[in-house]
Amino acid sequence: MKIAVVGAGAAGLVAASVLKMKNADFTLYERSARAGKKLLATGNGRCNITNLCIDKSRYHGDNDFSEYALSRFGYFELKTFFESIGVPLKAEGDKVYPYSLQASSVLDMLRFAEGMCEICDTEITKITPKKNGFVLKAGDKDVFFDKVILCCGGKAAPNLSGGGAYDLLTDLGHKLTALKPAIVQLKCDGTKALDGVKIDAAIKMEKRCEEGEVLFTSYGLSGPPILQLSRDAKGKTVSLDLTPELSYTEIVNMLSEKRKLTYLTLENLFTGFLNKKLGREILKRCDCLPMGREIKTLTDKEIKSLASVIKGMEFLITDTNGFANAQVTAGGISCRDFNRETMESKLHPGIFAAGEMLDVDGDCGGFNLQWAFSSAYLAALSAIGENI
Ligand SMILES: Cc1cc2nc3c(=O)[nH]c(=O)nc-3n(C[C@H](O)[C@H](O)[C@H](O)COP(=O)(O)OP(=O)(O)OC[C@H]3O[C@@H](n4cnc5c(N)ncnc54)[C@H](O)[C@@H]3O)c2cc1C
Repeated sequence: MKIAVVGAGAAGLVAASVLKMKNADFTLYERSARAGKKLLATGNGRCNITNLCIDKSRYHGDNDFSEYALSRFGYFELKTFFESIGVPLKAEGDKVYPYSLQASSVLDMLRFAEGMCEICDTEITKITPKKNGFVLKAGDKDVFFDKVILCCGGKAAPNLSGGGAYDLLTDLGHKLTALKPAIVQLKCDGTKALDGVKIDAAIKMEKRCEEGEVLFTSYGLSGPPILQLSRDAKGKTVSLDLTPELSYTEIVNMLSEKRKLTYLTLENLFTGFLNKKLGREILKRCDCLPMGREIKTLTDKEIKSLASVIKGMEFLITDTNGFANAQVTAGGISCRDFNRETMESKLHPGIFAAGEMLDVDGDCGGFNLQWAFSSAYLAALSAIGENI
């Protein structure tokens, strides 16, 4: 039996490694000049390979579908698998990395495990179902395979993975759900003057809360908590608590006390407390300017309004920073037409799919690589008639 694995990214490399371990006859195709380009960029080059808290609630899209693969090949199975190919792991908080903290070592060891047999610079452009298998258009050749495992990734970061190959499946009758960028910076008005400012903040967007370092940019907001909320942020208001450890009342009291420093102007109201650029923006939002005004002239009402903005600086999110800057694609090939216990197409048995290509995306923190690995592991075993 001949099996084609299409795409030598995170999912494809794991699928190929499993097939190699099982002595299956397989061919691994990669459109780019080399395998695993995106894997190399993960976790800022450190590869946040998984998370200690793999749980359905951290997944979106069709997270009911993803549950089976993630429960059968979860954190412990993934750890055992990587240890078996020479990559010990270590945790930093909940996030798990290769012990080396080098994404390149993960790629190297996966390539050794699959036998470094990937055929690069070869795009699969069409799949034609035949009586007992499939003919793949591989570059300018037609090649027959009994089974096909599609691991073509999504639309995010197209410079690292080519931007998806959904039409391989939609041409065969599979449905594509709406696609949008996720784990991505957010665009909004009112941040130009704050460009470069970083602050530890608590962020609220509707019922969701995140905490961590927020970075203001000329176009909007970035930083881990912003990326985490980005999936559903377009058109919504995010509210930043700039001093999560201080209450509203504590701030009101502190600013009221500062009024006693009669020699200060508004220019220095926040000096020693908040970044100067942020201070100016807060004063502007509360109509307290000009900056040369004496602090002692601030009214109680103005101080309360300043404290309110510090505890809830609001931004209306107009857009995301697009697929070019996103880490993952929300949406994908509908999982409805796949069997969640085998990753096999219900429309074309013999075709399997795994990873970002499907309508499953995870939060920031190792969840997306875990999904790519879990689904690929399951798909590879199913393709050779085994199960976990
Ligand atoms: C900058 C960045 C940092 C990230 N960091 C993390 C992190 O630390 N932790 C985490 O969990 N997730 C991270 N992610 C997300 C994670 O990298 C992806 O979710 C994961 O790589 C998806 O794996 P995949 O195999 O499905 O797709 P990919 O890794 O994108 O691989 C798909 C492969 O298929 C090839 N291909 C596509 N179509 C064809 C075709 N028709 N023929 C042949 N080959 C084809 C592509 O060239 C590509 O090599 C990050 C993403 C980015 C962009």
